[in-house]
Amino acid sequence: MGERLKDVQLSKTSVVSRVRTVNIQTAHCPKGCDLMSDKVKIHNLSSICVKIKWQDREGLIYLDPEFGSYKHSSDIDIPDGEVVDFSCPHCGITLVSETESCNSCSAPVFTMILPGEGEISGCLRKGCFEHTLKIESFESMQLEIDENFVKVIM
Ligand SMILES: [Zn+2]
Ligand SMILES: [Zn+2]
Repeated sequence: MGERLKDVQLSKTSVVSRVRTVNIQTAHCPKGCDLMSDKVKIHNLSSICVKIKWQDREGLIYLDPEFGSYKHSSDIDIPDGEVVDFSCPHCGITLVSETESCNSCSAPVFTMILPGEGEISGCLRKGCFEHTLKIESFESMQLEIDENFVKVIM
C-alpha cells in the first residue's frame, strides 16, 4: 500500500523523466534566450552553445549537456590556464557571474539558468572548469549524487 502511494506521487513530478537522462535539456541566458543548439551534438544530445571570448578572439563553444562530463568543442583553441569570457550568442549579455568566483582557482565563473531547476555555474579558466561545474538546484544535486536516491527522497 505504502509502495503504491509512493509510485503515484512520483509520477506527478517531472523528476521521473529526468532521472533516466541526467543531462541538461534547457539552459537559458539571464535574459531568457535558449542556449541549446542542435547544430552540434555531443553524445547525440543538443549542446549548450555560448559565445566565448579570449583576448581579441571570439567564437562559439559547444558544451556537453551531460552532468559531470563537460566535454566541449570550440572554434578557438584556448591554452590551458587561460581565463575566457562567456556571453549569450543571441543577445550578447555576459554569463560571467558578478558575485561568485571559482573555489579552486578564484577565476571568474559563468552562470546559466536552468528553467525551473536552478542554475549551473562553472569556472572560466581553461583546464579548471570541468572540475568546478556546480548545479545550484536541489533536485539536480540529488540527481548528481545518485539517481536512485531521488526516488527514495521523493
Ligand atoms: Zn541572451
Ligand atoms: Zn577554477
